[in-house]
Amino acid sequence: MEGRLDAMDLELSETQQLIVRSARDFAQREIAPKAAALDREERFPGELVKGLAELGLMGVNVPAALGGSEAGAVAYALAMMEISRACASTAVTMAVTNMVAEVITEFGTPEQRERHVPKITAGEYQAGAFALSEPQAGSDPAGMTTAAARTDGGWVLNGEKQWITSGAYAGVMIVWARTDTPQDRRGARGISAFLVEQGTPGLRIGRAEDKLGLRGSNTVALSFEDCRLPDGALLGQEGQGFRVAMVALDGGRIGVASQAVGISTAALEAAVAYARDRKQFGQAIAEFQAIQWMIADSRTELDAARLLALRAAWLKEQRRPFSAEAAMAKLFASEAAWRICDRAVQIHGAYGYVKDLAVERHLRDVRVTRIYEGTSEVQRMVIARAALR
Ligand SMILES: Cc1cc2nc3c(=O)[nH]c(=O)nc-3n(C[C@H](O)[C@H](O)[C@H](O)COP(=O)(O)OP(=O)(O)OC[C@H]3O[C@@H](n4cnc5c(N)ncnc54)[C@H](O)[C@@H]3O)c2cc1C
Repeated sequence: MEGRLDAMDLELSETQQLIVRSARDFAQREIAPKAAALDREERFPGELVKGLAELGLMGVNVPAALGGSEAGAVAYALAMMEISRACASTAVTMAVTNMVAEVITEFGTPEQRERHVPKITAGEYQAGAFALSEPQAGSDPAGMTTAAARTDGGWVLNGEKQWITSGAYAGVMIVWARTDTPQDRRGARGISAFLVEQGTPGLRIGRAEDKLGLRGSNTVALSFEDCRLPDGALLGQEGQGFRVAMVALDGGRIGVASQAVGISTAALEAAVAYARDRKQFGQAIAEFQAIQWMIADSRTELDAARLLALRAAWLKEQRRPFSAEAAMAKLFASEAAWRICDRAVQIHGAYGYVKDLAVERHLRDVRVTRIYEGTSEVQRMVIARAALR
């Protein structure tokens, strides 16, 4: 439980302040006005990716030499909160893309880094994708069946992936596959990671999922049919792919916690404004203690979620263990965000139940933060394992 009681510096550095200011400004000026339409039209936020890239937000925690902002994990979490406050669909596109850039930077060869990361950070690729889940392997990714077999000079990939964010738009995807054989099953140690470029023959993109929320984000199945990859597609060591995935997911969970904080910040702000404005029984509903208590609970839970997310990001930035802290942040922030968005709908009454106001979208968008990058149940497993170790 190292790091649990450490004090962290709550003052933002100049770089962090700059990232927050530019993310907030772009989010409120360019993204927020488009969010309802992206949701309604199920439109991928391709037009916004370039703007995010120009501000350095497609590689916040990526070295400047690769086109990133090199601003660290805390700046990334803060930027993610700002973008999510405006549009969760744009935020998840940005989150997965940042994660892919970080993973290639950390585990890639110099050639792999040079080939892909600058295209991600510059917005030349519309997105990056992270293909771990399969139709029959979600919470238990070690049960995956997608397989990569060695051939002359490379690999041949066969299998199915499911629920892949930005799969239809990503310039590069990290795809996990078994590299052990049916005769010699090695469990998690039989899994390797590969870089697959969009348009590789044998890669087929499925239809976009019709989702409850994040409707502006793209979620697809991928199928690989004798998809040939060069030798240089292997990311990290053969058999070490599961570790790559776990390291990536630890960081990704800080991103999801930050998404939950951002979405629920927007919901609470809307609820406060509405409570002041809406009159019943001859007074603003904000005068009723029942409404005030909902706002007080939401405010408290939001601050707690924000602090947990920033602590996990801070530990990551300090290169200290942060796996359990990221799981706690993701668990608490996603569950609190659901309650905050639900209270925001309640405070709006019937007006909260229709698409004219954004709280309806926030409630739908926030639900998935309890599911992806490991469900709440999986986070509890990670936290309990660390506590009982
Ligand atoms: C919008 C969206 C985007 C996504 N994007 C990506 C992506 O980009 N890349 C990617 O790889 N995946 C992605 N996913 C997949 C996501 O990570 C999985 O849905 C998630 O890991 C859960 O897997 P599952 O849906 O198969 O549920 P299952 O694993 O089948 O779980 C079903 C239920 O059983 C519970 N459960 C499972 N095992 C246990 C256990 N041991 N103890 C207690 N309870 C348990 C779960 O918590 C859950 O409640 C995305 C999903 C969505 C909805």
